[in-house]
Parts: sequence; C-alpha cells; structure tokens
Amino acid sequence: MGRVIGIDLGTTNSVIAFYEGSRSEVIAGTNGDRTTPSVVGRGSQGEWLVGEVAKRQMATRPQQTFYSLKRLMGLRFDEVADITNKLPYEVVRGEHDLACVRVDDKPMTPVEISAMILRALRDRAEEMLGESVERAVITVPAYFNDAQRQATRDAGKIAGLEVLRIINEPTAAALAYGLDSGQTKSIAVYDLGGGTFDISILNLADDVIEVLSTGGDTQLGGDDFDQAIIDWARQEFLEQTGVDLLEDPMARGRLKETAERAKVELSQSLESHLQVPFVATVDGVPQHLDLTLSRARFERLVQPLIDRTLECCLAALEDAGMQPLDVDDVVLVGGGTRVPSVQRAVEELFAKMPNKSVHPDEVVALGAAIQAGVLDGTVEDVLLLDVIPLSIGLETLGGVVTKVLERNTTVPARRSQIFSTVQDNQKSVNVHVVQGEREMAVDNRSLARFELTGIPAAKKGVPQIEVTFDVDADGILKVSARDLGTGVEQEVCVRDASNLSEDEVERMLAEAGERHEEDLARRRRAEARHTAEELLLNVEETLEKSLGRDVPTAECDRLRELCERVRDALENSVSSFEHDELVEATEALQEAAHRFADFIYQGSH
Ligand code: AMP
Repeated sequence: MGRVIGIDLGTTNSVIAFYEGSRSEVIAGTNGDRTTPSVVGRGSQGEWLVGEVAKRQMATRPQQTFYSLKRLMGLRFDEVADITNKLPYEVVRGEHDLACVRVDDKPMTPVEISAMILRALRDRAEEMLGESVERAVITVPAYFNDAQRQATRDAGKIAGLEVLRIINEPTAAALAYGLDSGQTKSIAVYDLGGGTFDISILNLADDVIEVLSTGGDTQLGGDDFDQAIIDWARQEFLEQTGVDLLEDPMARGRLKETAERAKVELSQSLESHLQVPFVATVDGVPQHLDLTLSRARFERLVQPLIDRTLECCLAALEDAGMQPLDVDDVVLVGGGTRVPSVQRAVEELFAKMPNKSVHPDEVVALGAAIQAGVLDGTVEDVLLLDVIPLSIGLETLGGVVTKVLERNTTVPARRSQIFSTVQDNQKSVNVHVVQGEREMAVDNRSLARFELTGIPAAKKGVPQIEVTFDVDADGILKVSARDLGTGVEQEVCVRDASNLSEDEVERMLAEAGERHEEDLARRRRAEARHTAEELLLNVEETLEKSLGRDVPTAECDRLRELCERVRDALENSVSSFEHDELVEATEALQEAAHRFADFIYQGSH
C-alpha cells in the first residue's frame, strides 16, 4: 500500500502534502509551484486544462473557465442563486436539482470538475514521489454540511482516490501548528479563504487536539472582497461612460482579474491602479477602464464583510463558553488574511497579535498530511477530536425540528431515537432528516427523506422502531433502523436526494479513467504550448534589449532562427508527432537562450 497524501482542495488554490520522517512537506510541481490554482478550463480545442494553464485563459474564455467551484459543491441550484450572477460562467440546474455548470451544451457537476483538480494533484504527487498514490485525506471548510462533504468525497473517488478521511480545514491547521507547539493552550483558527470563512476554537493538550466549537460562512471569502471592488469599479465606469461592464462576460472576466490583482496589491501598497484597456466601445470609440483605488477606500468597501467574520468569531467563542481574552493564540489561515485591515480587526477582537509562524497558504495541507500520517501509521499519538458543524435533526409534527445531534458534538457520534406509528395498522413511517439551526424544517437543509416500511400490523403507538444516527469521523451521516419488536434491521439509504448516486459516481469514475490518458496528453500539449509561448516572448524581449550590445551576431542569428523554429512548431503543433517537434524546438531555444544570457553577463563584467 502506498502512502496516504493530504490535500487542501481550496476554493482558489489547492495544495498537496505528504508526511515523511517527522514532518509533513508540500509536494511542489516540476516548475517549483507549491500551490495549484483550483481552476479548470475547457480549451479552444476541446481539451481540459487544469491549474495555472486554465487560469491563464480566464480572461479570454470566461464562460469555459471554472473557478470557485467549491462554492457550488454538493449544493442545489436554488441554494446558490445569490452567487451565480457574479460568475462569468453559466450555472444551470442539473439532474436532481443540483447546481451544475454549462460545459459546451451540457451541464456538468462541480464534483466532476473538482475531480479533475484532484486528479492533477494526484498525478503531481505520483510524478514527484515516484510511486502510485491511491489514498488521501482531503480537507473541507468546517462549516460544510453533509451534502458538501459527500460531494468532496465523491470528487476524490472520481479522481481515483480512496478518501480515508475528510477533515476540517481549521482542524488541519491546528494539527500542523499544534504538533510543534507542545503546550497546553486554547487557540482560535481564523481562516479566510477564497470562498469561505471558517473560525474554530480548539484546545491543544498532550497531543490531543479538541475542537471546542466551529462556525463560519460558506458563502463569504476573498471572492467577495474582489466583488466589492468589482461593484465599485462597475459603478464608476457606468457613471463615466454609461456602459455596464457586467453585461459583457469577457469584460466581466477581465474586471475580475484586475480587481483581484488590486486587492492583493493593496495588501502591500496604499494605492492601486485598475487598468483594463479596450474594455468596451461607445459609438465605435474604444473605452478604457482606468481607476485608482486607495487602501482607505478599499477598507471601507470591505468593512461589512470583515464585520461578518467577527460576528462568526463571537458566536463560536460563545459556543465554546469563552471570551475573546481566553484565547491564547490566534492562527491566521488563507490568502484573505493577508489583507491588513483583516489582521487589524482580528488583533483588536482578541486583543493580541495573530500568530504568523505558520504559512497561511500551506498550513492546511500540511495538517492534512499529518492526519494522513496518522492513518497510515507513520505518525503516532495524535488524537483529533473534531465536531459536527451544524445540528442534525428530524422533522416532527407541524414541521418542527427535533434535534438529534446538536452542533459542536464531538465526532464520531451516535444517537438513537424511537419511532412509532400514529394510526392503527400503519405499515410505514416517513422520516425527514434535516441539518441546520432553524426551528422549522423548511428553513434548514433537507438531507434525506426515507420511509421505514414493513412494520407489522399493530395498534398505533405500539411498534417501536429505533433509528440510529451515526456521524463518522468525516462528519458524514449514516442512518440505520431496527424494529425492536421483530429485531429486523431496516435498510436506510440516506444519500441526499439531490446528491450523486453511487451509480453516477461509478460512471463518472469510469469516464474519468477512460479520459485520463487522453486528457493527460492534451494537458501536456497545452502546457508545452504555454511554455513555448512564454519563452518566445522572453527571448524576443531579450534580443530587443541586447541590440547594440557586444554580443556576437552569430549568436543573435542562431537565437532568431530557433525562435522561428518554435513559432513554426507552435503553428503546427496539433498531432503528437508535431508536439514532439515543439518540445524539442523549445528545449533547443531554451539552451541557446541560456548560452546567450552567459554572453550578456560576461559582456557586462
Ligand atoms: P485561499 O483559498 O486560502 O488560497 O485564499 C485565496 C484568497 O486569498 C483569494 O481570494 C486571493 O485573492 C486572496 N489573497 C491571496 N493573496 C492575497 C494578498 N496578498 N492580499 C489579499 N488577498 C490575497
């Protein structure tokens, strides 16, 4: 059995890590990149692109480039209504009412597309570790409900991975952080990612990591900070030109890219320029977006979002029976925590400087790898006591919810409830399982409905059917039922009616397997093209800059010749034969470019 890997399947970026020796390590790609953008794109030739190459086509093919899919994972179409109009790609209603994206003319589930990210990560791990990788621990936001967890597990399965454990991101962060600390203390993990916000209050003592409470918002993250900038820029542009940029998907894609860049820049600078040339035309005249956003204005725009995160923190503290000052350490996780006003707000709330010793982008994957190490026996003596994020209950008379498992119950957990009949000779009982904190069933998320059948004829209230709710260590619910009178076990299937069925997952797994070789070849081709294009641009720029400098003409001519060869190969690279030529031409150009660089630097001494 090969080793188990840890995967942080992030909204924006994903990271993969493994445990070896006495520490976990991030598995970098061949070009040294430690994170992979969680972006999947359908290229112009119908090929699937994953990661950096997919992200690069975001502005030019916005409707076929899928990002932030984690915000749609496992949810129904109606549940994502408020985010779909902010996405440049189309979200459609798929089978079982699932939120799907439109790929060409067909709906595709976010699960299937996320599986491609996981598959690419798995390929990377296999390539870098030189062994086959079949088992993984995957992290999810603590606030993910049962359906979202199931969906994540299904995505792993479609990627050919046996998902040994789903763990909460903040718990993983604490695991990575806690193993080194060796102290007894309470910590708060404040995790602001691309699409989700999580807060967890944990207790670390003697290699036991106990989650005391968890909270957050699955629809609040760095994307919303970008959106605040987009809304502001859109309004400014509308006032200047009368053009609404959000009506054009291409302009929307470019604006999104620019807004995110501005946000990141504002973490360092006090001002950022948003420039999108030729973004629209008015009466045949091209219009350019050119705005300046100060950090102060940005902070005002995002303050309501930061306030929402603080409210979640206070609620989680209350659930843990603590005050902000009781927390010994605050750990920041996720790219969103790089925003200075976020750090300030957290510092003010907890009255202490947040701990920045752990890398916010990698800590979750590192923690997942530790858990992976625990599961494959490499790591000893770490006990993880996680909790369920939302109460699980049953709809009872009048549509009221009776809670069976309260939120923040430590998992694994098991509770039983006795059911009976309300009529004489009643043969079956309907059970509706919901998840959430609201009083009425309709206001919570419906997890499953099932029918207990085959009840022997008896007077009402006499039959006793014991229904047992088991939440496993992944936070996923399983239900079993037993007729106490006859001792007969009832088959209960709790697959969410709007989730993928086992058959569908199997079908997708088979399809992904069939597609894999072809996809891999296509991906390699796309990556080779991008490498060639970048090198070409780089060399041409170098040649231009070195004009008039003391470089042998023969070297310049050789470089130009090789550029021409790469350009030709780029034009022809469709078949695998021509693809080989592209790779060879690129390598030759790379080698010559290095030699050329030696000349330049020797000449400059
Ligand atoms: P994660 O899901 O943890 O990878 O976080 C991704 C989010 O962090 C995205 O919304 C990024 O735009 C945001 N982000 C990354 N770096 C920075 C930065 N330096 N300043 C502000 N936001 C950032």
